[in-house]
Amino acid sequence: MLVAGLIAFGVLIGLVSPAQAALPSWPNVKIGANGPIVLSAQHLLRHRGYNIAADGDFGSGTQAAVKQFQSANGLSSDGEIGPNTWPKLVVSVQRGNNSEAVRAAQVQLNRYGYGLSVDGDFGGGTYNAAVAFQSSHGLSADGEVGPNTWQALVGGTPSSGGGSYSLPLARSALPRSEYDDPHHDYPAIDLPVSYVPAYAMVSGTAYRLSEPNGCGNGLRIVKSGVDYLYCHLSAYSVANGAAVRAGDRVATTGNTGNSTGPHLHIAIKISGTSYCPQNFLLAIYDGRTPPAPSSLPRTGCFY
Ligand SMILES: [Zn+2]
Repeated sequence: MLVAGLIAFGVLIGLVSPAQAALPSWPNVKIGANGPIVLSAQHLLRHRGYNIAADGDFGSGTQAAVKQFQSANGLSSDGEIGPNTWPKLVVSVQRGNNSEAVRAAQVQLNRYGYGLSVDGDFGGGTYNAAVAFQSSHGLSADGEVGPNTWQALVGGTPSSGGGSYSLPLARSALPRSEYDDPHHDYPAIDLPVSYVPAYAMVSGTAYRLSEPNGCGNGLRIVKSGVDYLYCHLSAYSVANGAAVRAGDRVATTGNTGNSTGPHLHIAIKISGTSYCPQNFLLAIYDGRTPPAPSSLPRTGCFY
């Protein structure tokens, strides 16, 4: 009572740190909801041992897990994730962690346009994104996603939609040094992976293409007149003409077309002209906003 009174007094006369922005309210999510908030909650439940699908749809399985979690934590088991349940559900994560809770944080950071691969690996890109988010939201910029940062992420509303990016491969698939290599004949890059998931680098419209003597089974993701091209795929995860969001799985890499071994060929083209994708990919890897494709070099990235 006394403490509450002192805090109220502090707020009244402005003694509470002015650098600390007011945190948004925790959202209330329940059965029937869907989207990235639900998806993060599912990853957090999985982190805590509940074997549910992380599909972004709050169905009966998620509701049952929430009720169990609430019972086990002395909460009213109403199956809704609201202001009492969120603080007990979130998990502090930091650089070096590799977990479902990190995936939950990456999903949230991507709501704000950081374009991380949701791979559960809290590396440099996720750290940079966390620091950037904290800095722009009046939080202590320590790069650790703790209770306040979780509340700001989950309860907040991104100020600008879109602008989201993702690596075309899971972050754990390749080291940074593979994203700056030149291509062997024209502006593009070959990423040396076997048969692994490929993800949309940007949000746009996906078109399949077939070039048996070239790209093989290819996929173009078109956004604002720019083609983001994927080649040599072994399988598609999206229909021709599908709307995709950055980070969506779009294909499995492979060895189709003019290819001497499995790899992912990536090119960025505007009106048929190829631009060097290296700086674009490195920026995403580093958690920076990538340069505009039209500003990318058209020489120097091949031999
Ligand atoms: Zn190539």
